[in-house]
Amino acid sequence: MIATEKEACPVCHSVEFVREVESFGEFRGMECGQCTLQFADPLRYDEAAYRRAYSDDEGTEAAYVPSVQWAREMSAEGEEAEWLISAAQRRALAVLEGELAAGAPVLDLGCGTGWFLECGRRRGWEMSGLDVGEQNVAVLRDKGFRCATANVEAYPAGWPEPRAVTLFEVLEHLPDPVGFLSGLRERFPEAPLVLSVPSPKRWTRLGGVRDLADLPPNHLTRWTRESLERALRQVGYREVWTEHPAPDGREFAQVGLRGILKTRWAGRSLTQADALLPEAGDLPPLGEAMARWRWKSRMGEPFVWAFRAAGWSAISILAVARG
Ligand SMILES: [Zn+2]
Repeated sequence: MIATEKEACPVCHSVEFVREVESFGEFRGMECGQCTLQFADPLRYDEAAYRRAYSDDEGTEAAYVPSVQWAREMSAEGEEAEWLISAAQRRALAVLEGELAAGAPVLDLGCGTGWFLECGRRRGWEMSGLDVGEQNVAVLRDKGFRCATANVEAYPAGWPEPRAVTLFEVLEHLPDPVGFLSGLRERFPEAPLVLSVPSPKRWTRLGGVRDLADLPPNHLTRWTRESLERALRQVGYREVWTEHPAPDGREFAQVGLRGILKTRWAGRSLTQADALLPEAGDLPPLGEAMARWRWKSRMGEPFVWAFRAAGWSAISILAVARG
């Protein structure tokens, strides 16, 4: 038998069923035949690896700088945020609306530029956010949100115990996703956890090329409903459900066909920068972007229905775990 050094699957710990399916720079892309999770080997990264992976793509850096400009331009009513959140987040709002009373404290982990915080506040919940970005946290504080750069282990003293915890597009970046979920379950055992991760059936993959952002070291794991449910049950959640939300017009308006066509004919990887930034590379003012999204979402309805009919999902899988 040949000894191979291989990372074990971080969800089911299998080594035997893990096989290499692709490679990217210094990483191997592995797939677990037992739980269907795909993960990077090695399952870790450092800043230097990050820079090496993305330095040759000019637009990419902009893609990962949260659009703090738009957070500043957001109106006091925060209506624009209803357009900026993903289809999965819209589904998450619908789920939480069914169970949270006005004034209920909600914690959003990895709150980014705060689109979900805005949407929660519009529904009367008491929103708190944690994020690694200092710049966006400062902007969100100015806007009156309880917001900090702390992590879950150092949950700020004096903050209320959340009635629900949300975690959107965070898990796939973590070197130890199951350990993180376990810590979350332990720290907030009473709060339902509502989370999203990129969907393997997302319509933005119609162009046939994998999103650049979907490779390591940016995304270290790729989830399916099956692997996600397994990980959530494994850390102790008793009631777990997941779904592939349907694509919707608002999500379509932001990415547009332009990004998809780029991947199809130019062979370029779709990044958020391709979708959001015009050729000049600058973000348009939020009001201007909004006006564009309104007509794009109307124009996009037939496409959205076609995507649904063809079995493509919204960009993310939604999961709800509790108990
Ligand atoms: Zn596995």
